[in-house]
Amino acid sequence: MEISRRGFLSMSGAIGSGVALSTLGLDLTALKAHAAEVTKMDRLRTAKQTTTICCYCSVGCGLICSTDKLTGKIFNIEGDPDHPINEGSLCSKGAGLFGLTEANEHRLRKVHYRAPKSDKWEEKDWDWTLKRIARLVKDARDKDFITRNAKDQEVNRVETIGHLGTSNINNEECWLLSMSCRAMGLVYIDHQARV
Ligand code: SF4
Repeated sequence: MEISRRGFLSMSGAIGSGVALSTLGLDLTALKAHAAEVTKMDRLRTAKQTTTICCYCSVGCGLICSTDKLTGKIFNIEGDPDHPINEGSLCSKGAGLFGLTEANEHRLRKVHYRAPKSDKWEEKDWDWTLKRIARLVKDARDKDFITRNAKDQEVNRVETIGHLGTSNINNEECWLLSMSCRAMGLVYIDHQARV
């Protein structure tokens, strides 16, 4: 028998209620955990569901975002079982997407910098950070730029700077970054979505 996603959620909720009643007084920890799941199921059933695509790589897995109708806030992101590519499954990057939303109060919002040989992280603003990056890039290019290789071929490259791109940017931004890196002579350019 084929069962739809919505049917599965309804059935799970009904089974959950029965199990909760039968275990009263026996194992409250498990009961509470189960109750939380049932509450989540209820929220999922009444939520506004929006489908979208994971932004992280070219696989293009389908997602379902659940938004609470009362608060208008997103409270769950999961793989879309009806999507032909991923059929509900997600890799760890896609599965962690909810952690990037405002619901995660611990997500990184500021630059964290650790000075050489220090064991402490400091918060920095972007003005300071961009000047620091520009200074280090300029110093490395001035010191390490290679114009010709061992065979006396013209190469114009710098091998002491690497660039790792984020998977949160789009094709056009990737193109711009790649071109900028190559224009500066970088050869070690990679992208997080490939990792
Ligand atoms: S990053 Fe993972 S979840 Fe996202 S599209 Fe690629 S394989 Fe799918």
